[in-house]
Amino acid sequence: MKTIVIAIDGYSGTGKSSTAREVARQLGYVYVDSGAMYRAVTLYMGENGIDIRDEEEVKRALEKIELTFALNPSTGRSHIHLNGKDVEKEIRTPNVSQLVSQIAAIPEVRRKMVAQQQAYGSQGGIVMDGRDIATVVFPRAELKIFMIADVAERARRREKELNEAGILADYKSILANLNERDRLDTSREDSPLQMASDAIELDTTSITFDQQVHQIVGMARKRIGC
Ligand code: C5P
Repeated sequence: MKTIVIAIDGYSGTGKSSTAREVARQLGYVYVDSGAMYRAVTLYMGENGIDIRDEEEVKRALEKIELTFALNPSTGRSHIHLNGKDVEKEIRTPNVSQLVSQIAAIPEVRRKMVAQQQAYGSQGGIVMDGRDIATVVFPRAELKIFMIADVAERARRREKELNEAGILADYKSILANLNERDRLDTSREDSPLQMASDAIELDTTSITFDQQVHQIVGMARKRIGC
């Protein structure tokens, strides 16, 4: 059976990751959370006191970063590992969320992440979510989705998600962080967040999780031909 590449982009907190993960599960595809990669790089830079304004220091730090994904038996999900250590929980903390969009704007960081993401997708059969997946990473993806949702609703969902994961965070600061990341992600020079001209916009403000998954899986099946 034909396998395709599904690119899901959109604003922070629109539910891209959970949707992409479930779409991949239903299709039997690999799921890659590209945001987790930028977050893991951010964690490394923070923990090692890297001066992110110093290009050479950033380059040297990047050489020491190895990112891998591995299935975690207790969650049944793929977790990101930074130099062999599972950091899936640490990368979701407010500290990382505050800094990640600045780190993700550095061209050297993007170059390294994009190369690794393209290698993951070389065989097809993949769902990847992020900000530049349809525009830069996989411009020839067979299915491109651009997710949007009202920012207040996005903040409510993110608050619930963080609380469930045992990470303390309040609604107001989550809302401020989402707005700030949207601003930085859409205005950066290198690969800004924008909808690809051949992407399909999906507004998730008032549809359920199951509905959004169902819509994307339906579109994917049409393209796969099954
Ligand atoms: O998807 P998530 O919200 O976890 O991504 C965290 C941050 O990583 C985003 O706000 C964005 O700055 C950056 N990112 C990116 N390109 C991607 C995925 C994420 O710049 N493909």
